[in-house]
Amino acid sequence: MNPNLGRWLDSQIATLKEQNLYKPVVVMDTPSGPRITVNGKADIINLSSNNYLGLANHPKVKQAAIEAVERWGAGAGAVRPIIGTMRVHVELEQRLAAFKHVEATLVFQSGFTANAGVIPTITDGDDAIITDELNHASIIDGVRLSKAARKIYKHCDMASLEQALRETSGAKKRLIITDGVFSMDGDIAPLPDIVALADRYDAAIMVDDAHGSGVLGGGRGTAFHFGVHDRIDVQLGTLSKAVGVMGGYIAGSASLIDWLTQRARPFLFSTGHPPSTAAATIAAIDLMENDRSLTERLWENARYWKAGLQRLGFDPGISETPITPVMVGDEGQAQALQRGLFDEGVLALAIVFPTVARGKARIRTMPSAMHSRADFDDALAAFEKVGRQLRLI
Ligand SMILES: *Cc1c(COP(=O)(O)O)cnc(C)c1O
Repeated sequence: MNPNLGRWLDSQIATLKEQNLYKPVVVMDTPSGPRITVNGKADIINLSSNNYLGLANHPKVKQAAIEAVERWGAGAGAVRPIIGTMRVHVELEQRLAAFKHVEATLVFQSGFTANAGVIPTITDGDDAIITDELNHASIIDGVRLSKAARKIYKHCDMASLEQALRETSGAKKRLIITDGVFSMDGDIAPLPDIVALADRYDAAIMVDDAHGSGVLGGGRGTAFHFGVHDRIDVQLGTLSKAVGVMGGYIAGSASLIDWLTQRARPFLFSTGHPPSTAAATIAAIDLMENDRSLTERLWENARYWKAGLQRLGFDPGISETPITPVMVGDEGQAQALQRGLFDEGVLALAIVFPTVARGKARIRTMPSAMHSRADFDDALAAFEKVGRQLRLI
């Protein structure tokens, strides 16, 4: 190791530890489920997974992956535009287009790369991107890759968005970007209001629906939830959260998708999914489409969990979706709550700066369709015990 680099790394890590911002990686010894083995400790209630519907370990999804390995092999063999696109990749994109009621879709390796792929590819130096201040890190990075001017508007604040639209009137084209569901607070972007402003100021709209996919609008996302899907130019969905597998996709017009196949750099220069990933995703979408009870159970469980926390005196913030933060504030207290809960058999991870602002630390809990009432009741008993010890309630 070069000594300059070595000293720099050591001091960066030491600073994180002093500021209670250092997070050791947690290791599971079981599949993602409602109760898991973590760091060797069995029967831990898992309240941190994005596996909203339990599809990550569903027998039909696993079977589809196994059969695809037998039929197609383990890897795609090349980047997709060279010779890495198999029939199963195309079948997935057609299924997604039908599911989302759009002309076409393009699947990327992840939601993160979908953002890195689409944002710089559809904007130029004489354009402007107008972006919510709490948008996901992958949107921020996608915007950084673009040559367009950028304006950040206050979180879900339509007056601030309108001001940004006024200030960018010289741009050749404008793109408003928002999360559909905000991943750290669980609130929903006011898409009908955003559509009205975009119409008035002649701007395009992109919605990153990573946490709306499989959760809102019968699984079809936030735009469907509000009935404005025809008015959203670019929708991003993830296949890594509620869909339970891996990937991200862009849904929109045929010309949008056509252009991305020619210019989106993660599509051009990084190998696509193994065929088993595409096949497992198709199976997961089948399950989501044919079994409404999955999303219904998710929402019922989320209501039960939130009501339980509120009854104990915890503050779930402004969430309107299953994402349920438990607001703490201080980073050290949030980490202490996480540790105390783990000792009581509950995995609920602290979210601290830079994922959220300093002083807005929280435990983020993710109730899912897989959890039973007993899972929630046991977890609530742990929250009550540790919350009292730390004087949070
Ligand atoms: C999780 C998330 C992503 C990234 O999705 P992956 O498929 O995990 O890469 C992108 N955008 C938002 C809003 C997210 O919450």
